[in-house]
Amino acid sequence: MRLKFLGGTRQVGKSGVLLSGEKTSLLLDYGVMLSREEPGFPIHVQPKLVNGVILTHAHLDHSGAIPLIYIDESIPLVTTNLTFELTELLIEDFINLSGFYLPYEYIDLLNTRKNLNPISFNKKVNLKDASISFKEGGHLPGAGIALIEIDGKRVVYTGDINARKTSLLRGADIDLGEVDILITESTYALQEHPNREKVEKSFVEYAREIVEGGGTLLAPAFAVGRAQEIAMVLYKEKFNHDVYMDGMALKTNEILLRHGDYVRDIQLFAKTLNWLKRVEGWKDRKRIVKDRCVIISPAGMLVGGAAAFYNEKISENPKNGISFVSYQVKGTPGRQLLESKISLINGKPQKVKAEVRNFNFSSHSGRSELFDMIKRIKGSPKVFTMHGEEENCVNFAKDIKEKFGLDAVAPKAGGEYEL
Ligand SMILES: [Zn+2]
Ligand SMILES: [Zn+2]
Repeated sequence: MRLKFLGGTRQVGKSGVLLSGEKTSLLLDYGVMLSREEPGFPIHVQPKLVNGVILTHAHLDHSGAIPLIYIDESIPLVTTNLTFELTELLIEDFINLSGFYLPYEYIDLLNTRKNLNPISFNKKVNLKDASISFKEGGHLPGAGIALIEIDGKRVVYTGDINARKTSLLRGADIDLGEVDILITESTYALQEHPNREKVEKSFVEYAREIVEGGGTLLAPAFAVGRAQEIAMVLYKEKFNHDVYMDGMALKTNEILLRHGDYVRDIQLFAKTLNWLKRVEGWKDRKRIVKDRCVIISPAGMLVGGAAAFYNEKISENPKNGISFVSYQVKGTPGRQLLESKISLINGKPQKVKAEVRNFNFSSHSGRSELFDMIKRIKGSPKVFTMHGEEENCVNFAKDIKEKFGLDAVAPKAGGEYEL
């Protein structure tokens, strides 16, 4: 058996791993890198050498390059129905925003759908002589951990995981059983997350402070997952002022309602949606920026979307607030605002008057949860650490060696391993 790392090695972005058994080759995720205007792609694979594609979750750093495989090939794509629908939503938006740079078109996304081979958690799908199952990943609605039985070995590819439950999702199922090869994410392998309930409470408290002080609070949030979670947190905590949601997050709501099994408490989610106010268009947007309310809107890092418009208006008034609820990547307007309180207003960089705060709602396992997962494994797997900054991947591998005596390595892009 052979593993080739195509991307997402010692970095977050463009994840891709090629697992080649004696008779069957599987591509595990095939994503893009989004930190620059021109997206980056993982190392090329010849689609005709691949017998199946396994997609762990919808985020573009795992899914964004998959349509490339389907330009003129028909091979099964194994993922949950929900992940596929969310992936379509994200890739359609990606084509609209970055189509000029993309080596595939909308028609290739349609062809991808024709090859969908849906999988549910804890059910098996056979592809040639490999057998694939998914465990709950807890990272995003529909996200799974891939377990692959091939050539008598058990391979686990975590994708992105979050072992701790959130208001929206159950935590990951991290009892992986007997494992021969573990490919694990390392995003927060060196960091611990704060207690989530405390983060939730301090966020709601801040929202109250701003709105009761006569201001508007903007919460820029990713359309899939975080926007819904934030709304549920406010509802659960009986936030008694108007909360609006805008943009692609509303489309995500419709999709999630159709796949209630993947949400921790679908009734609570449905109640939240009934309580929440929808932004229907520009008339609403122009009105609510002057209202005492909370606005949840994509994009999460202020790269385009209605959040960019809201930010311009809301940042002018010291009574208002802007609350970041996810990690802000270097080079994005969100990161700039968070670090230096500077935003582009009317095309010019200006100091914002609104209060800016950051809340650590992470959708990845922290250090303890990652170690807990490894501790529970039966057997002595060979471990590969990926999907994290270089320092995280390298030190995580080192720590795994020291703590558990396992053979662990942080591969580089293009790295190949015979197993
Ligand atoms: Zn992800
Ligand atoms: Zn990721």
